[in-house]
Amino acid sequence: STALPHDTRVVIIGAGQAGLSVAFHLRRLGLVPARDVVVLDRGPRAGGAWQFRWESLRLDTAHKVDDLPGMSELGLSFSTADQSLPARDVVSDYYASYERHFGLGVVRPVEVTGVAKLSNGRYEVQTSLGPVRAEVVVNASGTWARPFLPTYPGADTFAGIQLSTPDYRAAADLASLDVVVVGGGTSAVGFLLELEGVAASTTWVTRRPVEFTMDEHSKVAAVERADAAARAGLPIPSVSSGTGLPASPRNIAARERGVLVDRPMFSSIEADGVRWSDGTFQHADAIIWATGFRAELAHLAPLHLRESGGGVAVERGRSLRDPSIFLAGFGPQASTIGANRAGRVVATQVLDALAATNAATA
Ligand code: FAD
Repeated sequence: STALPHDTRVVIIGAGQAGLSVAFHLRRLGLVPARDVVVLDRGPRAGGAWQFRWESLRLDTAHKVDDLPGMSELGLSFSTADQSLPARDVVSDYYASYERHFGLGVVRPVEVTGVAKLSNGRYEVQTSLGPVRAEVVVNASGTWARPFLPTYPGADTFAGIQLSTPDYRAAADLASLDVVVVGGGTSAVGFLLELEGVAASTTWVTRRPVEFTMDEHSKVAAVERADAAARAGLPIPSVSSGTGLPASPRNIAARERGVLVDRPMFSSIEADGVRWSDGTFQHADAIIWATGFRAELAHLAPLHLRESGGGVAVERGRSLRDPSIFLAGFGPQASTIGANRAGRVVATQVLDALAATNAATA
């Protein structure tokens, strides 16, 4: 991995899909030289959050990963990747080749702890390896490290195992247990299918009744809602909550087998199970909280980007409060459809921001 420079023009925080895609476009389309773009990532390997996904997860119809821009030049595509290998290894290997091929200087492992604005208008990015100064900061830190856990009365009295999505390792860890899976997204579906025949029982609970209706139209509508929230600086609604789940043959068949049948949310948690408001009780040895993620932005706190609505106002990946700060892969760009375009959209505006600082110092 590259050494950490102390001065550069663009710092990109995060080497996942969003960060690498911005770096590629800056280098390729903007002809920005290597020394002017530094990508920082705290993961030990390439692959962004994918390197941390559980071993049994495969790239398949439910988990399609978009190719990075220019990846075909390496003869690589996730659509033809070996589905017998763990997704985390495939993504990590492909991303590592990509970083090498395009000479994207990724410094890892390095933790970004803060970003501060200096009086000369530049930024100081504080890291576990020391400070780096830059004219523009692109935050592409993803959500993996911030699983969202709702609170329910009695959660702290539960005597069994509680996991969030990033804690999950393997179905075998939950063999012969009664498992409650909470959440209406793809992660919950994946867990329920993996646990079928391994757990003693699974119970699926969701806040809204699940519909297997996802199509292109509902995806576009969900992205538009996320975009409107991002522009208004409001918390971003999850894209999947507005689309329904894919009506794939596998999901439909599992629904017919009784595996993907959802119940409403329980109202409280007891030592050995969960209880609904009508008094119904389900014994549980484990609860999996597959209840979504929030953007990881704590390191940006010194920039005071938060609006009173609780979110960070962003339009086309650019902060509305500070036009030299970009959030790639955030809000509408976090979805699988949005992420593909995000790199180019952000890189184009980063070039504008760099041109503006050039003009100001000329
Ligand atoms: P990440 O891949 O999360 O990359 C962010 C990087 O920034 C990480 O490497 C992280 O370590 C690093 N980082 C964060 N904070 C710091 C810091 N302070 N200092 C240094 N480094 C930092 N998308 C799909 O296309 N297909 C799927 O099947 C799919 N499944 C998903 C399943 C789950 C459970 C989740 C949560 C998401 C899924 N997604 C899927 C969407 C997923 O968000 C994107 O595919 C993609 O991984 C997001 O890329 P990213 O670059 O925004 O973030």
